[in-house]
Amino acid sequence: MDVQRMAIIGAGTMGTGIAQVAAQAGIAVTVIDIAQAALDESCHAVQRSLRAAVEREKLTEEEAGRVRELIGCSTEWDAVERADWIVEAVFEDMAIKRKVLARAGELASEEAVISSNTSTLRICALGEATGRPERFIGLHFFNPAPAMKLVEVIPCASTLPEVAEAAVALCERMGKQPAVAPDIPGFFVNRGFGALLSAAIDIWVQGAEPEAIDAAMELGLSHRMGPLATADLVGLDICLALLDSLHEQTGHARFEVAPQFRAMVESGKLGRKSGGGFYTYEE
Ligand code: NAD
Repeated sequence: MDVQRMAIIGAGTMGTGIAQVAAQAGIAVTVIDIAQAALDESCHAVQRSLRAAVEREKLTEEEAGRVRELIGCSTEWDAVERADWIVEAVFEDMAIKRKVLARAGELASEEAVISSNTSTLRICALGEATGRPERFIGLHFFNPAPAMKLVEVIPCASTLPEVAEAAVALCERMGKQPAVAPDIPGFFVNRGFGALLSAAIDIWVQGAEPEAIDAAMELGLSHRMGPLATADLVGLDICLALLDSLHEQTGHARFEVAPQFRAMVESGKLGRKSGGGFYTYEE
């Protein structure tokens, strides 16, 4: 499958990053959002990211210019009708995603593939919403999408084998490392990270310092960053939602959220973005 035109629905952190990655692979992209402000910020974020890539000599000025020309923005959905590949990257909310996917399924051409960037929701449930689950797949990019190598590829029972093959090929064309994952809550990475983070939180609740927990896990497991520092970077509100979702979907006690952690998030300590979480950050 030769993907030439991509429509990305959702101009937030992930939609923006995926747009850059796809355009760098020569694909013409239209980013769609309900909010004009989100589209404006998305354009600025791509400009900043490309400028940084040129400064770090990852891209030439000419290459960055070509990438800019390949990305368009709109509040209208016309690009969905013309796209070979449609990426859904709206809020992590089943009802909102199902509504967006149903509309995408109605408008998309027969041959087009629709993918979702969901982190925790069941791919099969989202696929049903499109009305064409055989041409639907999970394609889970990590943040920041231009820098992170891994993309989880999650077919569901109805996904056609050729669609899964096309998803793997698309990832490789974009310079990513695809990992085909089962449609289980959290797939590979968030399932594993959730368990590790939950264990680290348990140790913290028992009185150990975050620095000590992270240092031991970094050294003992050869991880570049400990789970608590990673959680601060991801955002503690997002981590809380991840653990709650894993707990709700699996019923496993290992994902149960410690009340002390929930209280920390509810008091506004969200990690780096709020200036503090397990650690304190300068402005
Ligand atoms: P975000 O909040 O930054 O952006 C979501 C965007 O969707 C917003 O701009 C919003 O205006 C738009 N939107 C909402 N409803 C819409 C609709 N009906 N039509 C069009 N646009 C609509 O979200 P994000 O962090 O980019 O996350 C997007 C998806 O990617 C989620 O499923 C999330 O779980 C997943 N994800 C996020 C990360 C991360 O670190 N942020 C990492 C991996 C996966």
